[in-house]
Order: sequence, then structure tokens, then C-alpha cells
Amino acid sequence: MKKQIQDLYGFQVSSIKKLVGYDNANYLLECDNERFVFKTYPFTKDTYTLLNAETEILNSLQDSFRGSIPKPISTISGEYITVVELENRKTICRMLTFLEGDFLGESSGNLKIYTSLGTFLAKLDNELRSLNNYIIKARKWEWDLQYLHLNKPMIDAIPHASDRSIVRYFFLQFDQMVVPHLPFLRKSIIHNDANEWNVLTNGDKICGLIDFGDLAYAPVINELAVAITYAIYDKEDPLLWAAHILKAYHKITPLEEIEIHLLYYLIAARLCISVCNSAQSRLDQPNNKYASVSEKPAWKMLRKWLSINPTGAENYFRRALKFPDQKTPSIQTQLKKRNINLSKALSISYQKPIYMEKAAFQYMYDAYGNAFLDAYNNIPHVGHSHPKVVEAGQKQLSRLNTNTRYIYDLLSDYAEKLLEKFPSSLNKVFFVNSGSAASDLAIRMAKHFTGKESLMVMEHGYHGNTQIGIDISDYKFSNPKGQGQKQHIIKTALPDTYHGRFTKNDGSAGAAYAAEAIHQIDNAKSQIAAFISEPIVGCGGQVPLAMGYLEKIYPAIRKQKGLTISDEVQTGFGRVGDHFWGYEAQNVIPDMVILGKPMGNGHPIGAVVCTEEIAESFSRGVEFFSSFGGNPVSCAIGLAVLDVIEEEQLQQQAKTVGDYYKSLFTDLKNDHPCIGDVRGSGLFLGVEVVKPGSHIADTQLAQKIKNELRAQFVLVSTDGPGDNVIKTKPPLIFNKDNALEVVEKMDSILRSH
Ligand code: PMP
Repeated sequence: MKKQIQDLYGFQVSSIKKLVGYDNANYLLECDNERFVFKTYPFTKDTYTLLNAETEILNSLQDSFRGSIPKPISTISGEYITVVELENRKTICRMLTFLEGDFLGESSGNLKIYTSLGTFLAKLDNELRSLNNYIIKARKWEWDLQYLHLNKPMIDAIPHASDRSIVRYFFLQFDQMVVPHLPFLRKSIIHNDANEWNVLTNGDKICGLIDFGDLAYAPVINELAVAITYAIYDKEDPLLWAAHILKAYHKITPLEEIEIHLLYYLIAARLCISVCNSAQSRLDQPNNKYASVSEKPAWKMLRKWLSINPTGAENYFRRALKFPDQKTPSIQTQLKKRNINLSKALSISYQKPIYMEKAAFQYMYDAYGNAFLDAYNNIPHVGHSHPKVVEAGQKQLSRLNTNTRYIYDLLSDYAEKLLEKFPSSLNKVFFVNSGSAASDLAIRMAKHFTGKESLMVMEHGYHGNTQIGIDISDYKFSNPKGQGQKQHIIKTALPDTYHGRFTKNDGSAGAAYAAEAIHQIDNAKSQIAAFISEPIVGCGGQVPLAMGYLEKIYPAIRKQKGLTISDEVQTGFGRVGDHFWGYEAQNVIPDMVILGKPMGNGHPIGAVVCTEEIAESFSRGVEFFSSFGGNPVSCAIGLAVLDVIEEEQLQQQAKTVGDYYKSLFTDLKNDHPCIGDVRGSGLFLGVEVVKPGSHIADTQLAQKIKNELRAQFVLVSTDGPGDNVIKTKPPLIFNKDNALEVVEKMDSILRSH
């Protein structure tokens, strides 16, 4: 090769060293007193054309940037880009000057350097703006943020399903937030790849920029989105570093408000492009380490990016550039507006209510720019705004939404997939739109099937907001403002091993509580149509039924020809970790199961699952019809939720993270006598706050913990008859770091108490 180079360029080469490269070969040439970079590329017409365009741009920039960008060197015959046979292959060659300096990636990386980077890029873009090049203009490839979707096929190369979901989430955000603005953004030729291995530094200054192979005719803001991505992706406080680059750039070329508005999503998109390409190249060229240099920090930042409120990032950038604050109505204004048309019967969480704007996975974003860790909401089971669920809904909504009086595949497909999760005896499903509608229907069906009226319900139980729902919910009918217990309702004591009379959770407490309940059954005025309970009683304060309890109760109910109903609205779909359904922990199979909340990840779906006999009996009565129950959009969403639970192994995640989370709370209990009990399973936990040395509720302290956690951007709630049980049941993508954050914050609140 040496001789060929010497013949082509007419100078003596004393040594050749191969350098790392992304998708071409680079060589460092030592000549007399000078160093050059010799680059070779496998011949294609496109590469040849593009390299000529790049050379044209590099040459046009020489007057202003000589010494700080590479200068093309021509062959003896005057060609900057030449085609030769190298090692028997048709190869494109070119020569550039070598630039001195330390890579930004190896520098100390202080804030001054990033200010200098902003200045450098602004000056460069000012020059590039005056240039025109139709080859660059026509270029369309995956590293240009405008064409983010060209990266979509590569998402499948990312090994973990949960990681793929993060990328898909940002693709969807890009579609919604960026794409509508793209045609209106100012455009120019930009360098488009100011990453830390293309930027050269000398002390606190940027002294050079190399690799113009990614030149694009693109929105000007993309230049900054790219530079900022690589500047921040290994930093603890990414917005701070980003702001320094922006400020410096803005001083020379004022940025527009819309550009700042899009920046958060553009940076996320660049991180996505990086991880997609790293994953793909790990498959395609496993030996090319350079192709995935950015992978680790990009993933770290992509996950961290989710914990930053997009509005918060925008506000931060705006403040740095001295744009006026955006006007967001105050909470008082919002409350006033809400109270004009809505009843105060609807409660609002926290002393300081939250004006919520957006959410992603385990994070929720308020309108003022704060991000909250959601350790409370179980409805977004697989994560807020999960892309698979959103896409399923969007796609079906734009295709067909109708009702069960027509035939469509999604209804039977979803029913089949859902029923696969149940034992074979539970093989019929009725779709409705809420947990309340499900419990209401289940009770109607039970009465129809048994011909009986009485219902046995659990102390502190809650099953829904319909009249039947309220009738069977001690939590509501026994409330001082409630309607009281109806004649046909038999309430049985909560088999609670913390507060109750029987405390040994080895089966003996369960048997003792069951014996009392069986006594009630045997002595009931009339026979019982159904017994309904949750396996872990949420409104009772996350109280798991004592072990062995249902195993004794179910046969007693069945003996007098009644039905057993498990309310899995809170505990279903893998949340409890060890099992997919909460009743499984009690070694029983109910006759009916009611489903809701997590089933549609926030989309309103509920269901009653029952045996063939019960469904058959019901079908002999009047027609059952629900306008919305089982509609194709709901079915598509429900299917997506089941798919995500499987793909992302979320039941396993609930088990692993839940066990860890519970162990952290148990440690906390050992340090703080005001924590009386830690209970529940998987990601369905309760932490009971009491007066030290007693089981007496400390409601005030529990409320204080909840509100102070809210002030520290962590969401939990309280429940139980004394409203003193901290309830945590986060989306199942909640991870161990999230768990630690909640418990550490709770610890510090209790220490300063
Ligand atoms: N059952 C249980 C156990 C519940 O927690 C709830 C809601 N909190 C319901 C039923 C009623 O569900 P929905 O609010 O969706 O009607």
C-alpha cells in the first residue's frame, strides 16, 4: 500500500498506522514533517459521489477554518477522490491533513470546553449556511434525525424487550412532538456528528472538528441535538452541560423557541439512533468495537432521560437562553376551573395537588416541569404510555371500532389469549369496561345461577361504584356517610394476621378465621349465592388473606351451592410476583374472577371470567350486551398488555423487584418502630404506620410520609381503616433503583420526623 500511496500523492511515507473507523478504513501516515490521514472505502457510486460532495464542502470551508478542519489533499493528477485497485478490490481513496489535539472524549471535559464547543459549532454553521450542495440535500439516511424511522427495523436487534420499548416510546414521541414541526424548521447543511471522538481540544478550547462524513441538509437545531447528546450522555447533570453549549451557540446564532421546544425529543431520538445502530452492528460486525463505543452511555442516558420531565428540560433551556418563562396556569386556577362543573365528591390526592401533563413508564410529569417516580399507580401496569399498548390502540382506532354484535378476530383472539392464563375450568369470558361493571355483572350472574339472594362479603372490601358494587363493599356501606349494610349482605371478618385475633400465618390463623366464617355460613338466614373477596384486601390496607383461609371457605360456600368470586382487579396480571392471579397463593380455583384496572393499562376494560356452567345458565336469561365491552380497540389493547407482560417478563420482574423492595421496607421497619408491619407480595405492598410499641394507627404520620414523598417527587398513597398504611403498587417496570429511591427517601423523612 505504501508504494501505491507514494505513487499517487508523490510524497515519501515513513510509516503507516491503522486507525479505528466506523465503516471505512483509516490510516495515519507519517511523512517527513507532516502527518496525514489516508482513507479508503469499498467502491460504490454513491460513496464516490458523496465523498466528492464532502470534499467540496471541506474545500469551501478552508478560508475560515484552515487548521481546525481537515484539508483534502489531491493526488499528483489533481484528484481529491480517486479510485484504485487496492488488494485486488476496487477502492476509493482520499487523503486529508491530520489535525493535532486531544479528543474531547479523552479530555477533562470541563464546562468551558462545552462553551467553546457551542461557539465553534455556531461559527461553523454560519459558514455552512451559505453553502449549497444538491448531493447533500438529496441525502437520506439513518443518522439524520429527520429520517429517524429508517432506524426502525434495527430496533429488533436490541436484545431486551424492555429496552426496545423505551426506544419505541421515543419513536412515538418523535412522531407526535417533532414530525409536525419538521417542515417548518430552518434548515442548513450541518456537520451532524460533533461527538466526543470527532471533536479535538487543546486545553479548555475546541481546536478542531473531524469526520465530515455525516454532513446533512437538516434542521439547524439537529446540530446541537447531536452535539449535546454526546456531551451529556455520561454526565450526572445533563441539562447543565447542555445549557453551556446552547448558551454559547445562541450568543452567535440566536435559537428559536420552537427549536428549544423540540430539543428534548431530538436528543432522545439521537440516543435511540445510537443504540439501534450499536445493536445492529453487534450483530453485523461483532468485531468492530468502535461501532458500539457509545452504546453503554447512550443506554444510561436514555433511561435517565425518562426521569426528566420534557417540559422541565425545555424550561431549563429557555432560562439558560433568557427566553421568558412559559405561562402555566396555577393550581388554584386549575382547581377553580375544575370545581365549576365537577362535584367535590371527586377527591384529589395530596395536600398539594398535582397538575399532571404526561407520563412515561414509571414516571409522571407535571405541567410545571417536575418528574415524579410513580410508586403508586397500578393501572398503567406495563408502564405509562407503553408504546406497544399505545400503538395497538391507535392502529385499531383508525381501522375499526364496533361492538360484539359483529364478528371480528380480535374478540376471539383476545378471549383465547386471556383464558390461557386461567385453569381449564375457567373458560368463558364476558367483557365490560370497568372493575365495577365486572363485579356488578358477576353478582347478577351468581344470583341467576344459584337462584339465591344472600351475598357474603369481606370486611373492608371494595368492589365497585355501581349500586350492587356499593352493596357488597363494606369499605363504602360501613363508611359513616355510607348507606349501611343491606339485609342480604353477610359480612365476614378480615382474616388479618397483624391486627386480628389470630396471628399465626402458618395456616392456623387462616383456619380459625375460616371456622368463624363457616359458622356464619351455616347459620345464615338464607343460603348464600356468592362469596366475594380480593386475595389481598386493598382498601383494608393491603392485607393478604391469612394462609389457608380460602381453602376452607370455598368448599363451605360450594357445599350450600353458592359460588366463589375472586376480585383480581388489583392483584391480577402478575402483580403479586409468585403467581399470575392472587387467588393462586391460596391454592384454590374460584368459580368466577373479576378483572379490571391493569387489564387495559389505563384503557377502560374489565371482565368476568367464569365456568362453562355459569355462562351457560346466564345465556338462558335475557341477552347480555355491553356497547363497549369487547370492542376491537379494547381487545387490541388488552392483547398488547398480555404480550408486553410476557415479552418483558413482568411477572418475574414483580417478583424480583418486589422481594427486594419488601426487604428494604423490612429493614426500614427494624430501624423505625413507627413501622408496625410490612406486607403484601410482588409489587403490591403495604407499610403500616403505627404509634411505636402498639398496633394503633398513626394516621398523621402516614399522611406526612405520603405528602413529604410527594414533595420529593415520589408518589405513594395511604389506605386501610385508619388510613395509615402506605400503599405502593407501581407499574411493573419499576426497578430496584426505583425501589431504593422510595425507601431511602422514606428513611430520611422518618429520621427528620
Ligand atoms: N374491585 C377492586 C378490588 C377495586 O380496587 C376496584 C377499584 N378501586 C374495583 C373493583 C372497581 O373498579 P373500577 O373503579 O374500575 O370500576
